[in-house]
Amino acid sequence: MTRVHVIGAGMAGLSAATTLAARGCRVVLYEAAKWAGGRCRSYHDAALGCRIDNGNHLLLSGNRSTMAYLRRIGAEETLTGPSRPLFPFIDLISGDAWTLRLNRGRLPWWVLRRDWRVPGTDALDYLALRRLERAAVTDTVAGMLGGLGTLYDRLLEPLAIAALNTKPETASAAPLAAVVRESLARGGAATIPRMPKIGLSESLVDPALAFLRASGAELRFGARIAGLTMTDARVTGLVGPNVDEIVGSDERVILATPPWVAAELLPGLTVPDAHEAIINLHFRAGIDPGPAGFYGLIGGTAEWVFEKPEVVSVTISAANDRLEQETDRLAAEVWSDLRRGFGLPRAMPPWRVVKEKRATFAATPEQLARRPGSSTRLVNLRLAGDYTATGLPSTIEGAIRSGESAAQHI
Ligand SMILES: Cc1cc2nc3c(=O)[nH]c(=O)nc-3n(C[C@H](O)[C@H](O)[C@H](O)COP(=O)(O)OP(=O)(O)OC[C@H]3O[C@@H](n4cnc5c(N)ncnc54)[C@H](O)[C@@H]3O)c2cc1C
Repeated sequence: MTRVHVIGAGMAGLSAATTLAARGCRVVLYEAAKWAGGRCRSYHDAALGCRIDNGNHLLLSGNRSTMAYLRRIGAEETLTGPSRPLFPFIDLISGDAWTLRLNRGRLPWWVLRRDWRVPGTDALDYLALRRLERAAVTDTVAGMLGGLGTLYDRLLEPLAIAALNTKPETASAAPLAAVVRESLARGGAATIPRMPKIGLSESLVDPALAFLRASGAELRFGARIAGLTMTDARVTGLVGPNVDEIVGSDERVILATPPWVAAELLPGLTVPDAHEAIINLHFRAGIDPGPAGFYGLIGGTAEWVFEKPEVVSVTISAANDRLEQETDRLAAEVWSDLRRGFGLPRAMPPWRVVKEKRATFAATPEQLARRPGSSTRLVNLRLAGDYTATGLPSTIEGAIRSGESAAQHI
């Protein structure tokens, strides 16, 4: 049985490992940390006294690779969300609240219903979305869609920031077009918001580890790979503080680390090297979950707020310019938005700020041009990760698809 060494147990590595294990390959998974999940994980927070996710992650029903992954690891039932395609919003400046609703089919007749679309927009405004069909990598989101007034301010800008984690003035419209092609353009049925019922690890990580263990895979935690030994043509060994492994002549390697580690391990590899932060704030409080369990916020510091089992979690995307801000001031600023939007008390409950400095690579035209494909100059080495050239932005769906396709090429 072919042995495949998968380096990195984030979404890309778990996707590759489970695809291979499902096909009967012998998988050895090496993870530097003591836990799996990478940028998508849950953990116990001592200050809050409960489990939290490192950051809110929103999926869509049209994320086909993610849904296939969940089916493979038996975790389909661990997601939740509204049963229909709807997105509630609150405008903190005007005080308006509305719920964007889509119909399930491909023909978007929902735009004809005034009470389903964004208040202040016209059915014809939505036709402008078709511009995305001809988006080139060098087109920016603001350049293509910025002139759309209310539709842009109240829908397209927050969606673009959520999908690309990059300010629309510099973000390329091409990966946004890819997201729209795989969701909205396929109709509301492909655009139903999905998120974990309990936590990211409970849905996307722990069931994958259980699946791998049951398949006989070898899981090595605390196993950082610090170097690859290689000939001109192939990888012959993996080395690290706790690893000294020979890669046999019929064996393969999938490198599923973040881009900066991949570039260190494989000299000469070009990868995206500019990143954007995401800041999440978790408050030990509760809000009315509304029809979806989350809300888009317009005109505030944060863009999205999620009602979680034990906390209210708020996301600030494309947050490089907020990294230096003191956490208590940031928490107070966001709490004030939450008070305005949800009528919460003045006293701030226990809170935690989680700053993920390199949450995603910056989805600018320059950075997109640096994405490598999956194959490498070494015949037995493939790359996987959200930074590889999937056409999608740096997302769970991109990471999972990259792992699946690296595995399929083995
Ligand atoms: C706060 C936040 C919010 C987000 N929100 C969303 C969202 O709403 N929707 C969405 O789809 N996506 C979202 N994302 C993006 C998504 O989490 C990532 O795109 C995805 O998790 C990346 O997976 P990956 O496997 O490519 O990389 P990683 O998660 O970085 O995994 C790489 C793994 O490799 C390990 N590793 C590193 N070096 C070594 C080494 N030398 N040896 C062995 N192992 C090593 C790491 O420890 C890690 O486990 C968000 C990300 C963050 C941080």
